[in-house]
Amino acid sequence: MAMNLLDYDAERLGQLMVQLGEKPFRAKQLMKWIHQRGVADFDAMSDIAKSFRQKLAADAKIAPPEMMAEQLAKDGTRKWLLDVGTGNGVEAVFIPEDDRGTLCISSQVGCALDCSFCSTGRQGFNRNLSTAEIIGQLWWANKRLSFDAARIGEAKNEDTRIVSNVVMMGMGEPLANYDNVVAAMRLMLDDNAYGLSRRRVTLSTSGLVPQLDRLREDCPVALAVSLHAPNDAIRDDIVPINQKYPLKELLDACNRYLEKAPRDFITYEYVMLDGVNDLPEHARQVAAMLRSTSAKINLIPFNPFPNSSFKRSSRDAIVRFRDILQQAGYIVTVRKTRGDDIDAACGQLAGQVQDKTRRLERMAETRPILFKNGGSA
Ligand code: SAH
Ligand code: SF4
Repeated sequence: MAMNLLDYDAERLGQLMVQLGEKPFRAKQLMKWIHQRGVADFDAMSDIAKSFRQKLAADAKIAPPEMMAEQLAKDGTRKWLLDVGTGNGVEAVFIPEDDRGTLCISSQVGCALDCSFCSTGRQGFNRNLSTAEIIGQLWWANKRLSFDAARIGEAKNEDTRIVSNVVMMGMGEPLANYDNVVAAMRLMLDDNAYGLSRRRVTLSTSGLVPQLDRLREDCPVALAVSLHAPNDAIRDDIVPINQKYPLKELLDACNRYLEKAPRDFITYEYVMLDGVNDLPEHARQVAAMLRSTSAKINLIPFNPFPNSSFKRSSRDAIVRFRDILQQAGYIVTVRKTRGDDIDAACGQLAGQVQDKTRRLERMAETRPILFKNGGSA
């Protein structure tokens, strides 16, 4: 099978050049064609010798995932559904803002970690995405956005029209697909590819402690941690990975990460679930818990999806929660819902997952649906 050059970061591409009897600097040339200019056809690479182009065309390909659908929301948010084979699809979302354009990227088809408020988790796990499928989301986004910018005559480099930031916050747990995610992030950071600074690439994790320690050494990008609960009892319930890596261990790992992180804080994400984790006493517990670290807090109003047993916290509860944390000295933001009309918000990226774990069927057989909020669904 022809190798897919989108799977190769700079180091591996350099090694490949040597194996093919070429000078290592060819890797830089190739990367610029592939990632900066979005070219998938070796014939178009005019500064590469024809004989080498022919050799590449025989042995290699540049194959991003197929684009299945594109949706544009009223507020400019765009969502792409990418075909990752055998009936599976994953989603990437582009969110334009005044001073930046953020692409939200998926790392797995489904997710095995089973957080109870997450639609991706509820669908079960199918497989890891390859490096090509992960970086392919950025490759496509750049291509589509620059195509549209050219068509409507806007300057291509206007920050809000291009991808200036990437967040690994789409479908899947990025640290559970460590090698492929790190290779893709190295391409995001590489000056011959996408040239994003470490501060503009954010990885969000539910808290896989050993992989967090590895990331600190291998590729320390900006970090967001899915906290979601004020104590172990609640977190054990809604973020089950907490049973393996409880809060104390997670926060210790976060403090170690800060030694190498490109920003001097970590963002803690906190989904606001009515009656579950949104009480004033919970806010006070969060304030006390994060005292020993350097934190910003991002409150995410729960995005409902079919058959979820949770409700979004009321506006009042969110404001009250935010105020307690702010009074305790934290910087707190409340995430705005974007792309509502195309279901492009956090936790709504459903894609199409053929669940290899058959989670829903097993769940129906083995455990009752959890009812929060005093019992009624
Ligand atoms: N697996 C990673 C990244 C993907 S999810 C993680 O868990 O951090 C990105 C963020 O959206 C996480 O903070 C996740 O907990 C949150 N999220 C998931 N489902 C949600 C929902 N229904 N409403 C609001 N936020 C949700
Ligand atoms: Fe997986 Fe993140 Fe969803 Fe949890 S919140 S199930 S870790 S994608």
